[in-house]
Amino acid sequence: MRKKQNTSAQTKQLTKPSSKQGRKRLPRKRRHELHFDLASLLSIDHACGGCKKGKKCCCATYEVCVTTAEMKRIIRVMPEAVKICSHLRTDAGFDNVFEEAGQGLFAIDTTEDGLCLFAFMSNNKIRCSLHAAASTLGLPLEQVKPKACLLWPMTFSEGNEVLSLTEDALSFSCNSRRNSRSRRLSPSLTEAISIVYGRGAGTALEKEALRGHRVRR
Ligand code: SF4
Ligand code: SF4
Repeated sequence: MRKKQNTSAQTKQLTKPSSKQGRKRLPRKRRHELHFDLASLLSIDHACGGCKKGKKCCCATYEVCVTTAEMKRIIRVMPEAVKICSHLRTDAGFDNVFEEAGQGLFAIDTTEDGLCLFAFMSNNKIRCSLHAAASTLGLPLEQVKPKACLLWPMTFSEGNEVLSLTEDALSFSCNSRRNSRSRRLSPSLTEAISIVYGRGAGTALEKEALRGHRVRR
């Protein structure tokens, strides 16, 4: 995702610049080595409790880019997402919220305030309708939610494919710098890595990282 430029929003993942904002974008899935910046990943604790409206929120900070495959998976759950996000509903069914971003990627539209169109308010907090739809339908999160969102506040560089911490992570209240050095990832980061890269990958990453900062997949 990429940071939004000079707006209230930035990026959640790897992205390329947009005329209206930055983007978060995930690299295509590759079955080979995953490199990572261990120092950055070990430097924070992360726990998502949802953001109240008006607080800096990742869902209103970045522009999410998804692959064609991800877009198709999202479209499959649109009937459920529309039940939660009525603004997505049209007379014909549901709105097209995807905008071509080049290189086989599609950006999810946002409101004028930069909030992702899949976001909704629940108990005064910003929530993800795709996450909710996956729960309702009993689908694994990775089959519905953009990987960029699953990994945040981690980011995956496009060039060298290095999993690291997004540079503005500490500007969000759900991320805090650790006071002392730790040899274990924050549990939520481990969980996210396991969801995206496979069960146990987060744990394997921790172990392998301590040896050589590289994991073979
Ligand atoms: S990950 Fe952090 S910024 Fe994003 S919704 Fe959760 S609490 Fe808010
Ligand atoms: S898809 Fe969901 S998690 Fe990702 S930015 Fe949109 S609302 Fe937030």
